[in-house]
Amino acid sequence: MSQNKDTTTEQSALKTDLMQDITSLCKRRGFIFPSSEIYGGLGSCWDYGPLGVELKRNIKELWWKSMTLRPDIEGIDAAILMAPRVWEASGHVENFTDPLVDCRNCKARFRADKAQKDPQSGKLICPECESTNVTEARNFNLMFKTFMGPVEDSAAVVFLRPETAQGIYVNFHNVATSMRKKIPFGIAQIGKAFRNEITPGNFIFRTREFEQMEMQFFVHPTEDEKWMEFWKDSRWKWHTELLGIKKENLRFHPHGPGELAHYAKSAFDIEFQFPFGWSEIEGVHNRTDFDLGRHQEFSKKNLMYVDTERNNERYLPFIIETSVGADRSLLAALVDAYHNDAANERVVLQFSPKIAPVKAAVLPLSKKPELESIADKIVQDLSQTLQVQYDESGSIGKRYRRQEEIGTPYCITVDFDSLNDQCVTIRHRDTMAQERISFDKVHNYIKDGFKNWPQK
Ligand code: ATP
Repeated sequence: MSQNKDTTTEQSALKTDLMQDITSLCKRRGFIFPSSEIYGGLGSCWDYGPLGVELKRNIKELWWKSMTLRPDIEGIDAAILMAPRVWEASGHVENFTDPLVDCRNCKARFRADKAQKDPQSGKLICPECESTNVTEARNFNLMFKTFMGPVEDSAAVVFLRPETAQGIYVNFHNVATSMRKKIPFGIAQIGKAFRNEITPGNFIFRTREFEQMEMQFFVHPTEDEKWMEFWKDSRWKWHTELLGIKKENLRFHPHGPGELAHYAKSAFDIEFQFPFGWSEIEGVHNRTDFDLGRHQEFSKKNLMYVDTERNNERYLPFIIETSVGADRSLLAALVDAYHNDAANERVVLQFSPKIAPVKAAVLPLSKKPELESIADKIVQDLSQTLQVQYDESGSIGKRYRRQEEIGTPYCITVDFDSLNDQCVTIRHRDTMAQERISFDKVHNYIKDGFKNWPQK
């Protein structure tokens, strides 16, 4: 029994260490910094640094293309501030709450639905100090309020959107008519969302300001289940084949009757195995005609779709939603890629080249001008299409380690032999294998390597 407990404690310490290692790597190597750090930071707010912003843009681009290159999906970019009635119609004013509990002992605040219960008394246990001396749960609305215009009164209250989806629903008719779209079709959007979370944490997993990538697919009410299956499958492939996440680190979690949101007919989370446990990175939901129905009721505008392909049948389309966090996907990609290669005394981020923030590094073996000028030419050539780093400081071994730690798939070394044989050494990040390639073949070699990159 005690042995089991020890093993469990050890495992959980290792997992905590992994999150700490990733957080510290992110800061040290320019991925993610604590927000306003020189002022002591601001709880659970993070700034993306030079490599983090590239990584995040690559992820968003992969998502955007996978959606909007389809002929049946259009993109939009709606305003963050919306008419306050939107949030009444959506149910957020009334229902977007979490049950907040205060610990009388250590003053910690936590969510009742995420806390353990004492099996004997049935009381909630404080996750910080394990006391059961806690208050009753009170409902706390997660929307951030602000004021529009110079007067701070209730008439001027607006909300920072807690999800991007509503910007899509209220534009359903605009997009359908301006783009002459026929059902089934989808609208995609990437944008910031804000939630005044009670217990943010686990680095960028749960923050108060984050980015969502949402696509709402409008279908005939009899075709909802078919499209639900289609999008579940398609989103699974995006995570595994494009983002490059290992299949064993992903699973579907179907919402049971107690979990299902009031508007949903069926819902599945895609969960990733984080060091702190399996947790949601994406929701795929069948939202029925709830959203358009509510907006029709509250706005008093007719949002019925007239289906010319079904004898002018008039109906409110059902919506299949796919909603994934850009930040959570990025964290999943980081955790999935993190490899502590102890045998070779190195840490490697084994990103898919599609998302790696730097695609290749050019390393002249010494600072001799003849080597630098070859390296410069290679950088100029590659940087027309790829993110490239030039690094000439420190021993070559240290430079390789730096690049491996940021996930650069290829290092290109220019050495003294290059002056005679017009070749460079290309080193592979994951296998450390090296190949000698002539200057003029480097660009194509890298492109082919990316095309044929092995799936995890
Ligand atoms: P959770 O149960 O973790 O609070 P949720 O079910 O409320 O998440 P959704 O409303 O379905 O999340 O939002 C869709 C996606 O947006 C989530 O799968 C997640 O990737 C992202 N997301 C939601 N809340 C946050 C947050 N506070 N910080 C970062 N990403 C978030």
